[in-house]
Amino acid sequence: MTIRTRVAPSPTGDPHLGTAYIALFNYCFAKQQGGEFVLRIEDTDQVRSTPESEQAIMDSLRWLGLEWDHGPDVGGEFGPYRQSERSDLYKKYAHQLVEQGKAFYCFATSEELDQMREEQMAEGLRPKYDGRGLNHTEDEIKANLAAGKPYVIRMKIPSEGTFKFNDYLRDEIEIPWENVDMQVLLKADGFPTYFLANVVDDHHMQISHIFRGEEWINSAPKLLKLYEDFGWEAPVLGHLPLLRNPDKSKLSKRKNPTSINYYKEMGYLPEAVLNYLGRMGWSMPDEREKFTLDEMIEHFDMKRVSLGGPVFDVDKLSWLNGTWIRENLTDEELVQRFVDWKFNGEMLAKVLPEAKTRINTLSDMVDLAGHFVGGIPTYDPALLTAGKADENVIRQALQFFVWQLEGLRSFDKPAIFAIAKEVATFHELKIKDFLEPIFVAITGKTSSTSVLDAMEILGSDLSRARLRVALAHLGISKKQAKNIERAYRDCLLYTSDAA
Ligand code: GLU
Repeated sequence: MTIRTRVAPSPTGDPHLGTAYIALFNYCFAKQQGGEFVLRIEDTDQVRSTPESEQAIMDSLRWLGLEWDHGPDVGGEFGPYRQSERSDLYKKYAHQLVEQGKAFYCFATSEELDQMREEQMAEGLRPKYDGRGLNHTEDEIKANLAAGKPYVIRMKIPSEGTFKFNDYLRDEIEIPWENVDMQVLLKADGFPTYFLANVVDDHHMQISHIFRGEEWINSAPKLLKLYEDFGWEAPVLGHLPLLRNPDKSKLSKRKNPTSINYYKEMGYLPEAVLNYLGRMGWSMPDEREKFTLDEMIEHFDMKRVSLGGPVFDVDKLSWLNGTWIRENLTDEELVQRFVDWKFNGEMLAKVLPEAKTRINTLSDMVDLAGHFVGGIPTYDPALLTAGKADENVIRQALQFFVWQLEGLRSFDKPAIFAIAKEVATFHELKIKDFLEPIFVAITGKTSSTSVLDAMEILGSDLSRARLRVALAHLGISKKQAKNIERAYRDCLLYTSDAA
């Protein structure tokens, strides 16, 4: 049997370091045994999935050097590899399970289910679907279907007993069935949930091993029961430890840049990022810190993954990156890296329209436009609050601005301006007075080229990172952070399209 692994990201945001880490381990496992690696796009969440995110995920995995044998853009014998193009298959299998008595229709409205949960909580119970759909008679079901009543299909779950399974990386895991809900498989809009689509696809794409993040462990009973219900042999299942911030909390963009694009824009080398990800819970048999992808494949052993939460520490990555720059590239190669990165005509052409009117000598360019190639400026907090607006208002407005930008799909000047305006208006700031601190956060200075153009050229990741670090320089207490979060949740902006 061919060893075949996959990475199955949902295209709902920035290309995440966690996706690259899971991809890398699946990739090495397959390649070491002469197997295949598959990229599948899990875009069944119609509201949150975007083509921009899908493209960004593919670009960043390629940038890192993780090429897939089968995938949405390269095809493959078990395609298509984008779930939104496989809807009919999921519907067919959901209805097959109903016919076989392994799944059932539920016609409950969301109001009815809300009421059910409220009643359960009032009785001090853990809210849980109560199996009401199982009580429908055949005639009721027929009548409801004929009347076109919306329905979901849920899987049947045993009411007692314990599910046991062997995780490739752990001892036997036991989960009591009473902790497992009767999972929706097909939603009212006809789209599958993760569980149904994932099982149907892994089976049809002949995936032999699934290594996914440990946040999915509790869902393993549902997943493996579905294989049983279909009568399919389940792939080997293993759960990799989650990446953590240095304070051991789950890696999150609030504390660390998590988008792979950020690392690319900052000038990290893909080899170094991959090398560092390879050290997340894993090490070379001889413990050497530095290795290439080929070396990792050669020595890879999934059983040696250690389960203690691996810490992603940007300072350590920077150190490792420096050693790659100094030790692994010839000067000629390094020159080429600089050119490919930002020291090139394309970048100059973007900056020139802004800069031309403000320089007298070519060398003026360095002072004027250094922030287009630099990383995070050194901030003078006094400059950030030098304008007319109150410091507390600026702090909150900048934070709202960052959060609103996170949801922006196309990071262009008019869209950035619209958000700045929205946030300024909400805080009763003149747009001019709000653009001042943004200017300082993005350029590190009080005068330079237009800040909105600069943001568009720098891109979302670097712009947001600078705003975040500038905010940190303003100083923000835990209490202030909490208040800002509450204000954000309460305000109208949160529910607008950009959020
Ligand atoms: N779409 C899921 C995710 O993004 C895939 C999980 C899995 O590998 O099964 O995390």
